[in-house]
Amino acid sequence: MGRLGSAATMSVATYHNHTSWSDGSVSVAELVERAGRLGVDELGISDHYVLHPSGRTPPWGMPVDRLADYVEDVRTHAGGTSPVVRLGLEVDWFPGQEEAIRDGLDGFPFDFVIGSVHEVDGFRVDASALDWDELRPEERNERFRLYWVKVRAMAESRLFDIVGHADLPKKFGHHPTTDLGAVIDEALDAVGRAGMIVELNTAGWHKPCADGYPALELLRECHRRKIGVTLAADAHDPAHLLRDFPRGIERIRRAGYSRIARFRCREIVYESF
Ligand SMILES: [Zn+2]
Ligand SMILES: [Zn+2]
Repeated sequence: MGRLGSAATMSVATYHNHTSWSDGSVSVAELVERAGRLGVDELGISDHYVLHPSGRTPPWGMPVDRLADYVEDVRTHAGGTSPVVRLGLEVDWFPGQEEAIRDGLDGFPFDFVIGSVHEVDGFRVDASALDWDELRPEERNERFRLYWVKVRAMAESRLFDIVGHADLPKKFGHHPTTDLGAVIDEALDAVGRAGMIVELNTAGWHKPCADGYPALELLRECHRRKIGVTLAADAHDPAHLLRDFPRGIERIRRAGYSRIARFRCREIVYESF
């Protein structure tokens, strides 16, 4: 069993990772092999699956008509125990696409599905600093507000297990200048009601915001609502599989958690640490 920093009794599981099926740098086979060498006990593969309302698949998403091939590829590598491989997906949330997403995912034996909001009303929140820099403060505030409205709707769809990088719009270092507490509360309440959990996504520490997703205060709000948590680096390269995990565990602890979520067949089990 792999071990992680001071979390002496906790096995190492990481669910949010990308391969060359979407915008990751290596194949499933190579990511599994590297994870084994790093001592990962449970490796989730979660490539991007984007049913964009425009009908166009962005370059960072897998070809949506090849989902069955992706599933087959991941499952081919799921027979070993070092690491155990979990079949996942990172799905973009768009209002109006509920049925298409449900139909698209139907019949596949996912262990977990991450729901992510990367776009609000045609605005890509994580694409470029310039997109944010050009906005007036009130326009930025509106995008932050819309983001949380979308997270709430995503939770209410009951299609997903994990909220991906829960405060992604801060990526380029901008923060709302108005109080969005009420809309964030509504989103987190919906996440809790849906039985979804959040991830502590360490990738944010390597972006201009220099902060993991979500921020400590938000994670405390999740804990207060008894929303579970998992830990991942959103690795697009095997070198990043466990990037900043000790820092992530530290934040999870500070938020009040003493157990972490594990997935199998879309069921959550909790492991104490
Ligand atoms: Zn994402
Ligand atoms: Zn991702």
